Amino acid sequence: MIFIKNIKALVGVREGGETSPLRGADLGNLNVLENAWIVLTGDRIADYGEMDELGNEEDGWDQLLALENQADRVIDATGRFVFPSWCDSHTHLVYAGSREREFMDKIRGLSYQEIARRGGGILNSVELLHNTSEDELVRQAKERADEIIRFGTGAVEIKSGYGLTLEDEVKMLRVARRIAEETPLTVKTTFLGAHAVPVRYREDRDGYVNEIINEMIPVIASEGLAEYVDAFCEQGFFTVEDTDRIFNAGLKYGLVPKVHANQMSFSGGVQLGVKYGARSVDHLEFTGPEEYALLAASDTIATLLPGATFFLEMDFPNAKAMIDAGVAVALATNYNPGSCPCGDMRFMASLACLKMKLTPEQAIQAATFNGACAMDVIEDLGSITAGKRANLFITKPMPSYEFLPYAFTTPLVDTIILNGQLYE
Ligand SMILES: [Zn+2]
Repeated sequence: MIFIKNIKALVGVREGGETSPLRGADLGNLNVLENAWIVLTGDRIADYGEMDELGNEEDGWDQLLALENQADRVIDATGRFVFPSWCDSHTHLVYAGSREREFMDKIRGLSYQEIARRGGGILNSVELLHNTSEDELVRQAKERADEIIRFGTGAVEIKSGYGLTLEDEVKMLRVARRIAEETPLTVKTTFLGAHAVPVRYREDRDGYVNEIINEMIPVIASEGLAEYVDAFCEQGFFTVEDTDRIFNAGLKYGLVPKVHANQMSFSGGVQLGVKYGARSVDHLEFTGPEEYALLAASDTIATLLPGATFFLEMDFPNAKAMIDAGVAVALATNYNPGSCPCGDMRFMASLACLKMKLTPEQAIQAATFNGACAMDVIEDLGSITAGKRANLFITKPMPSYEFLPYAFTTPLVDTIILNGQLYE
């Protein structure tokens, strides 16, 4: 049992039993318990409350002393905040190498087409991954897993999509499963065969979609390698019709759709995602009132990826209008080597506040509670709730919880507890 006392404030406290993502005014209602304590038993949050409840000078702090005596470990969090771990519901964490050469090309003023001609883009990562062994991929991905844990992340969704052959897609998803087994992260996996059209199908996109449907999905689903099926539904990648066929096939095998939608154009990806009851539609730079109304009336979550919008120097989606319309908004990193080489959820919260005018309260809940909903782990994660998994972090001393998105590069995550265990 771990007993954390004198907590300046416990952030993101919610009653149990809430399983729907937060919308409208609820997203900004961040419940904060000041001068608090929390008890963790095994891998669970057992109980929490206010310090005043544990006694006073006159009764000699009897309950406080009893808890201290029972605990295997007592942590004094004077001046510090306790947050639920971030839930990062959109990443491409498993990849080979890195692509800073494209970063330099971009700085020198090369266009996307020129960078692609020099061997850049997703297909660059595909070739690198093909030539990297499963064990080496695990080693590289575990470094990134450790990095995001230290940023305060406790749950992560990982996509395939740098394989584009059955063998390499399976390899990527197996690596993601090993991250689940060999690190304390909670991992959900997504099959993203439709990330780009591979070179061998350059003149035959339909042929590749057929391969995804007839050869990849049946194997990946039967081996239990993915929970979700995703597609890059975008001009120059996969059409609404391609994505429709892929989702149809995925659903037959029990894979729940997610979709990369409306990043570079009004692609129709949001409409398709809602039609298929997608768990989430992600990116959404090119959206307007029509998309907001559809999403607001659906169970599909709008996952915004401000790190990619920032790195690609695009205009940010109108998150405020989405929230006002009643859309369930989540935040994620999109950690990947091409458009967001950053897995720091706190930076995403900072960007959401600065560039999309979310309040710190909205950003924090979009990055925890709604992120947990977007990967179907809300019954276990995403808030400080008795009975949920003990995934949380203790900050360094800070003046307020708003200080976390404000001081956007200060290392403030101090003590990390995942599954009730200290991560050191
Ligand atoms: Zn992505």
